[in-house]
This record gives sequence, structure tokens and C-alpha cells, in this order.
Amino acid sequence: MLEFLRPDLVQLVAYQAHPGGELPAGVTVDHLDTNECPYQLPESLKEKLALTYQSAIETNRYPGGDHTLLKQAIAQYANESCSAIANGTAAVIAPEQVSVGNGSDELIRSILIATCLGNRGRILVAQPTFGMYGILAKTLGIPVETVGRSPKNFEIDLDAARQAIAQAADGDSPVRVVWVVHPNSPTANALTTAELNWLRGLPRNILVVIDEAYFEFSRRTVVGELAARPNWVLLRTFSKAFRLAAHRVGYAIAHPELATILEKVRLPYNLPSFTQAAALAALTHRRELLSSIPEILTERDRLLQQLRALPGLELWDSQANFLYGRLKQAVDPELAMAELVDRLKQQGTLIRHTGGGLRITVGSPAENARTVDRMRSALAAR
Ligand SMILES: *Cc1c(COP(=O)(O)O)cnc(C)c1O
Repeated sequence: MLEFLRPDLVQLVAYQAHPGGELPAGVTVDHLDTNECPYQLPESLKEKLALTYQSAIETNRYPGGDHTLLKQAIAQYANESCSAIANGTAAVIAPEQVSVGNGSDELIRSILIATCLGNRGRILVAQPTFGMYGILAKTLGIPVETVGRSPKNFEIDLDAARQAIAQAADGDSPVRVVWVVHPNSPTANALTTAELNWLRGLPRNILVVIDEAYFEFSRRTVVGELAARPNWVLLRTFSKAFRLAAHRVGYAIAHPELATILEKVRLPYNLPSFTQAAALAALTHRRELLSSIPEILTERDRLLQQLRALPGLELWDSQANFLYGRLKQAVDPELAMAELVDRLKQQGTLIRHTGGGLRITVGSPAENARTVDRMRSALAAR
């Protein structure tokens, strides 16, 4: 080992987007392991962006560094989307409350830097949940406190969470940040009233991060509460419903003081010019892009029904664009699920084995039909 390296980083297991080896040859490969939208930008919008690249982007110039237009458009979208689902109760998010990141992954890291770095405290997560919170915390040497969830409905073990916070409170590494996903990945459940009430009751010296990566599918948001809660920050992304995973754009909506710090700690030119143009175009054309959501939700419910009809799988209800399930009656469930995922992969369907279960992205109707067929034969081969 090189002596100048931090030993904890040498040990760390990095995030793997597509774990495990070669893709099979000669079959249609369905990427249902990363919860993207099954559709690209429409051809017409790609053409518009190509024109933008030709006519408006100077490749020798650094990108605009303050993201003014994009922040305005995001604030407007956040307000509008809140009002649409809360019977006209508009949130009043100002552009100064927005920080834009190279994917929400960058914002996760910025939040960690802004709160816990330098032995100032630890984060709390409820497992299973999105892996990046823990991985990025560890790369910064920040301790991660974990609590469990109900095995029935994946509600956070709130007693354990209260206890963990109380126990750490008087030490030199208190819980500074609580991370939740709404709805959670990989388990697809939205926050319950009890969970929300717990978050509302947390003291103001603890930051609450609510990751709404799947907002456009769940139609649930806490954006309307932000004005009353200076210790809440909301994360969203263009990588899922907005079909822009290739471009890497996410955003945080926060109290202006926190937003200012997030802007201070990010890299100066964190968003390439073309990415900014793509995010702006996606917001301008949001009606068209988000028009695929009803189809995906209908497909989700159909996929759930069809997979539930197969023997050996237990599947939970979903508030997002993916399903979470487990194998029933396996002697060694982790091994059996790893084998099942591998058998699906040999047939060309990639799903994810994570958090003690299987996470299956809802794809296009043709992909979902193949998922059911391939799952049927993979289960029969057990
Ligand atoms: C997919 C996802 C994101 C998106 O991350 P990006 O870096 O914006 O692509 C964030 N949080 C959760 C929980 C996700 O599932």
C-alpha cells in the first residue's frame, strides 16, 4: 500500500453502477437497474439542442458559473409543481434558495462538507436506502450511524433513530444530518405521516435532507414546508423523469443561508455549458417530457400485478418508477437473489440486487413484458 494514502479509502468499496462482468451477446439488453426513464429526449428536442451547441456554445469559453437562468427556471418549476398537487397552495421558492450540482451526488457531497467535515459530527441513515449518502460520507471520513426499518413496510425504526440521536448528542460526534428519500430507494415507499412528524420535530441544529429524486412519479413533495423549516433541504434530479441522466444535473432547494454555503463549496464550473442548455431545454419542454409519466405509472401497476402472479416472489407497492421485491422461501436469500439476478442478466434483463432485495426499474411496455417472461423462466430454473 502507498503510505501517503488514507487506509480507510483503500478499504472502501466504491459505488458500482452496473456490478458484475460482461453483458450477454446476441440478446436485447434491458437496462432496468438504474431507475432511469425508458425514453430519451424526443428527436425534435435533441435537434434543437444540437443547434444550440452549434450556434450558442463557445467551446473555448468556460461555462457560466452562477447558473442564474437555470436557478430561476428551477424555482419556477418547484413552485408550479407544488401548487399543482397542493390545490393551489403555492410554495414561494426564490432562485437564491437553489443550488445546482453535477448530479445530486455533487450536492450530497457539498452538504456533507458544509455540515460534518472536520470531525463536526455524523450522519444518520435508515437502511436500506440510497447508497451514496454513506459512500460519500466515508470518502470524507464522516461517520455513518444506521438504523433499521420495519421488515413489513420499510417504515424507519423511529425509536432506534431517536435513541441514536440522543446517545450521540453529548459526545464529540453528534448527529448533524438525517437523510431520507421520499419515496425511498430501493424500497419505493413514501414517507409516512409518523415519519414526517418525527422529521418536523427534530431540533433545528440537525439538518434534514429529503431526497425527492422520484418526485415526478410520486407526486409527493415537502417543498411547501421549506419556508417554515430552515433546517430542511430538498434534493431533486434531472436524471430520472427528465431523461437527462447522461448530462448530470441535480438541484437542492434550501434556506438561503445553506444555499449560499453550497455555492461556496462546489467547484466553480461544475456544470458544463451543454448540460446547462439541456436542463433549461428540459424545463422549457417539461409538459412534453413529463407526459410519459402516466404511461410509466400504468405500466408499473401492471408489472407489479404480473410479477405478483409468479410463484416465489414477494413484491411491495411502489410510489416510484421501480419495484422492490424479495425471494420467498429461500434457504440463503442473498445467494438465491444473486443467482436470480445473474440468470436474468444472461437473458438480457439487468436489475439490481441491493438492500436485501431486488430493485426492478419500470421500463417501456416491451421491456416490461420481457421482464415478466424472463423472470418467469429465471424463477422456474431455481
Ligand atoms: C437516482 C437518484 C439520485 C440521482 O442522482 P444524480 O446524481 O442526480 O444522478 C439521487 N438520489 C436518489 C435516491 C436516487 O435514486
